[in-house]
Amino acid sequence: SSKRSGRDQCQIYSIDMVYEARNLASHIALCQEALQNKRFVLFYQPIVKVVGDVQHVVALEALLRIHEETGEVLSPSAFFEALDHPSMARKIGYFVLESAVAQAAAWQREGIFININVNISPRYFLHHDFLSDIDTIFGNHIDIKADYFTIEITEYAPVHDFENTGSIIKNLNKRNIKVSLDDFGRGSTTLTELQTLELSELKIDMSFVKHIVNNPRHLAIAATMVNMAHTLGLRVVAEGIENKEQLQLLRYMHCDFFQGYLIARPMSADALPRWLAARSRPSRIRRRFQFSRR
Ligand code: C2E
Ligand code: MG
Ligand code: MG
Ligand code: MG
Repeated sequence: SSKRSGRDQCQIYSIDMVYEARNLASHIALCQEALQNKRFVLFYQPIVKVVGDVQHVVALEALLRIHEETGEVLSPSAFFEALDHPSMARKIGYFVLESAVAQAAAWQREGIFININVNISPRYFLHHDFLSDIDTIFGNHIDIKADYFTIEITEYAPVHDFENTGSIIKNLNKRNIKVSLDDFGRGSTTLTELQTLELSELKIDMSFVKHIVNNPRHLAIAATMVNMAHTLGLRVVAEGIENKEQLQLLRYMHCDFFQGYLIARPMSADALPRWLAARSRPSRIRRRFQFSRR
């Protein structure tokens, strides 16, 4: 009967909720501990363009990690529930922005001038203090130009509050900060919304890249996304590239930039200068070696 199935449903629901609450609580605890004991670190993954058979690094994406006392490094899957939580979103987001800007300053002192993409959770992006936080952070690092920075947001922000998202993007652009729409294709941004927002970049969701080689539908969707982005004047990044065939197909579609394990895994800030130096040596053999080492 409907009453019975209703009760069953309710039970299933409550198990899910208990599970989620436990997840949430542990993710928040992990992040609070990480903030307190300075265990959050940013890793950096290169985004490249390809000219002929030479790859040029166009930017780095900052990716959050927790460096545990044991030496273990935790990825966001261990704490993702906290990233957009009301009690944590601003604290974590502020830390990430501040660290990325400080790292850019440190690299610039070493002569490395490089663009950085920073992921910002929708809750922080839409937070009424976000823009003033940005000003505070860049005010603390007056030697760093905001032009080097791109903020990555997911489709959840415009879907949740389109008007606010639009105005924040405008205000970031006024400060010469660009905005990229991450995980594109997974959410439900309409084409009207897409052409109204003053975005600079689209990142094709990894799930489309994953099946591009063996699924013609995914191939067609990826090609359409690239064309649409270009029609709207946006650059396109394909992320999650793990093999040469994927890279080949995406280049063929005129995708602008590429990111993925094939090019490089996310690495610590310390490892980056060495990686860059090894890559800029004009030896193809060395470059191949670099590819196959990871
Ligand atoms: P994202 O922003 O879409 O980042 C791309 C994710 O794909 C990263 O996972 C990266 O390590 C992974 N990845 C890159 N290339 C490949 C590949 O070739 N194959 C596969 N399988 N994966 C690849 P990560 O670092 O675990 O981050 C996961 C998500 O957590 C990010 O997805 C982003 O949504 C979120 N995140 C990471 N750092 C931050 C942060 O500082 N703030 C916020 N709010 N969210 C963050
Ligand atoms: Mg991202
Ligand atoms: Mg993504
Ligand atoms: Mg994402």
